[in-house]
Amino acid sequence: MNFDAIIVGGSFAGLSAALYLARARRSVLVLDTGTPRNRFAAASHGFFAKDGSDPKTMLEIMRGQVAAYPTVQLRDLKAVAAARDGGGFRVTLENGEAVTGAKLLLAFGISDILPELPGLAERWGRTVIHCPYCHGYEFSGERLGVLNLSAMSAHQAILIPEWGPTTFYLNGGTIEPDVTAKLHERGVTIEPELVDCLVGDGTSLSAIRLRNGVERPIDALFVGPRNRFNSNIAERLGCAVENGPLGLVVKVDEMKATNVAGVYAAGDITRMGHTITFACADGVMAALAIHHSLMFGG
Ligand SMILES: Cc1cc2nc3c(=O)[nH]c(=O)nc-3n(C[C@H](O)[C@H](O)[C@H](O)COP(=O)(O)OP(=O)(O)OC[C@H]3O[C@@H](n4cnc5c(N)ncnc54)[C@H](O)[C@@H]3O)c2cc1C
Repeated sequence: MNFDAIIVGGSFAGLSAALYLARARRSVLVLDTGTPRNRFAAASHGFFAKDGSDPKTMLEIMRGQVAAYPTVQLRDLKAVAAARDGGGFRVTLENGEAVTGAKLLLAFGISDILPELPGLAERWGRTVIHCPYCHGYEFSGERLGVLNLSAMSAHQAILIPEWGPTTFYLNGGTIEPDVTAKLHERGVTIEPELVDCLVGDGTSLSAIRLRNGVERPIDALFVGPRNRFNSNIAERLGCAVENGPLGLVVKVDEMKATNVAGVYAAGDITRMGHTITFACADGVMAALAIHHSLMFGG
């Protein structure tokens, strides 16, 4: 085997795992295509010691610290396939090369499938946001909206008044009377009209234009888009997946092992709550499990 472990995805989860494996003096190959999910945001919040930092800089620091260990190789290449190979795994890279490792960690992340609403994509991560814990505080007390995309959106609309006065944009959809009652209890304004586009200078947001021509002033819009895996490697290896509220999730045990012996998974692909803190913790747990498995088998 070329490596003790191959990590597919070198962002928060994958690099955290690489750091711990490196510190256990194991050989690690990290493959990464450089598209972490939060790359659209100017600042990352809620991760201790780095609250408010540029996420790109955070990852550059992480990569630099991991690269300083002599047993780690970081390669900016896509893993296109993985298969069992003797006692370990063979991973095929986009350049046709194949590498082998005793254990495999999948940390390739997810992508958000944004709704096709004019003005939305260019504001994603700035004034169109999904997680109030990550970005809500910066809009405290401002005019907030929630766009109705799925059954989850009503729950989001019930939560968001914690951060400021909220309008739920039904966008032509309907909601059950009990949900309407809860929204009223929380002081949420309900706007039934179809939404036409988002309006504002640059990435800022000043209004939502409705199909009837009315413009409603707004400072930030919350959306809960569906998501998809960045790679099909987990499914092609036979890893069990389940439906989460907004997309598929790889099933792992508390040590981050999948149902396929020797394959571990960490970060956003394994959970419903998505933060950098969770992703890093997942990576550390996976690394410890991989290290123990390398020592004792299993
Ligand atoms: C707009 C936005 C803002 C956010 N803001 C915050 C915030 O402020 N605070 C916070 O805690 N969380 C925030 N998050 C959530 C955070 O981005 C994720 O929880 C975190 O990035 C998950 O880390 P990960 O390592 O699992 O996946 P990712 O960070 O998405 O990394 C996956 C990596 O795998 C690579 N990859 C994919 N496929 C392959 C392949 N086949 N081969 C090799 N490499 C591959 C990708 O290029 C990427 O680098 C935000 C999310 C979004 C969408």
